[in-house]
Amino acid sequence: MYGKFKEHLTRELENIRKEGLYKDERIIVSPQGAEIELDNGDKVLNFCANNYLGLSNHPELIKAAKEGLDTHGYGMSSVRFICGTTDLHKTLERKIAEFFGTEDTILYAAAFDANGGVFEPLLTEEDAIISDSLNHASIIDGVRLCKAQRYRYPNADMEALEEELKKAQKNRFRVIVTDGVFSMDGNVAPVDKMVELAEKYDALVMVDESHSAGVVGETGRGVSEHFNITGRIDMITGTLGKSFGGAIGGFTTGRKEIIEMLRQRSRPYLFSNSLPPMVVNAGIRMFDMMSETNALQDKLHQNTAYFMDKMKAAGFDIKPTQSAICAVMLYDAKLSQDMAAKLLDEGIYVIGFYYPVVPKGQARIRVQLSAAHEQHHLDKAIAAFTKVGKEMGVIS
Ligand SMILES: *Cc1c(COP(=O)(O)O)cnc(C)c1O
Repeated sequence: MYGKFKEHLTRELENIRKEGLYKDERIIVSPQGAEIELDNGDKVLNFCANNYLGLSNHPELIKAAKEGLDTHGYGMSSVRFICGTTDLHKTLERKIAEFFGTEDTILYAAAFDANGGVFEPLLTEEDAIISDSLNHASIIDGVRLCKAQRYRYPNADMEALEEELKKAQKNRFRVIVTDGVFSMDGNVAPVDKMVELAEKYDALVMVDESHSAGVVGETGRGVSEHFNITGRIDMITGTLGKSFGGAIGGFTTGRKEIIEMLRQRSRPYLFSNSLPPMVVNAGIRMFDMMSETNALQDKLHQNTAYFMDKMKAAGFDIKPTQSAICAVMLYDAKLSQDMAAKLLDEGIYVIGFYYPVVPKGQARIRVQLSAAHEQHHLDKAIAAFTKVGKEMGVIS
C-alpha cells in the first residue's frame, strides 16, 4: 500500500528542495542564549531566537521550574476541566491578566492553540472576522475553523480596514484581528487607529501579542501600553514561548465573559492536556519579575536602538521598527542566503528570508535583538555585518 504514496512523497520532497524551500534544522547542543554551541563544535552568537528578554535560560526561571516540579510533580495527565487545574494554573492566569490590564485569562498548550480556539466558540456565520493580510498562520487557521464571514485588508492599511468595516455592517458582530508586531518587518500594527475604527463601526478588537508582549511599550506590556489604549482591546492572545521564558504555552486574555465562554467551548482547551506545573510555576515567577524590575525591557530597548543606529550608520538599509526585529533589506534571495552563510562563518547566526516567506524582491536578513546580548556581542555582529556587507558589495 505504502509504495505509491512513498513515491508521491519523495517527488514532492524533491520539488521542495528544487524550489530551495527545504527547511534544514541546525542542531544546538547548549542552552538557548546569546552564545550557543552547535553540534559541529562551533560557538556562535545567536541573533535569530525569539528570546527577546533573555529569559530562556534565566536562573530564576530554572529555579522556579524545579520548585514547581518538586511541589506539583511532572505532568497533569488531564485536561483542565477534568483534573488538570492546579492552584498554579489559576495563579498564572491571574498574573497574565494583571500584566495586560485585562479581566481574565485562559491558558493553552501554545499560542497556536489559543488562536485556533478563539473564533469558533464565539462567532457564527452571521458574524464577520476582518483580518490583516500578514496575520500569523495560527490566526488564519483559527479563522478557517470558524463559520464567520471573512474579510481581509492589506497589512496595516487602515483605510482599507475602514472599507471592510463598512461592508461588514450587514453582519451581526464584527471582530478586527491583527498581530501586534509582524514578524518579518517588525512593524507594530496601528492598533490605536484600529480601536477608533472599532468604536466608529461597532466592532471588537483582537490582538495577537506573541511578538509584541515583553518587547513593545516601555514595560513590555504590548501594544496597549505602546498606544496608551489599555482596556480598549477586547481579546489578546499570546505565547509563553517567546519573550516570556521561551518554553511552551499560550493564552487568551481579555473580557471576562469572552474568557468564560472559551473555557466552555474552546476545543484546543477542552480536548488537549494541561500545561505542566514546572512551566506554569516558571511563568508565575516570570510575571513577578516583570513587576519587580524593568531592567530586562530597558536593556532590550537599549540594545535595539544601539544596533539599529550602528547598522544604519554603516550604510545598511534597515526597515523602521519599534520592536526588537531588525530587517536588513537586501532585495535579492540568493544574496540573503549567501550573506547569512558568510555571517555564520564569522560566528553570527542569523537567517535570510525570501519569497514566499516575504514578498518577491523583498529578501532580507532578519536580526532579532535580545536582553541577553551584551554590547560586545552587538559590536561583534555589527563588525561582521560591515565586513561581509563590504565584501559582497551591499555597502560601500
Ligand atoms: C510565534 C507565534 C505564534 C505561535 O506561538 P506558539 O506558542 O509557539 O504556538 C502565534 N502567533 C504569533 C503572531 C506568533 O508570532
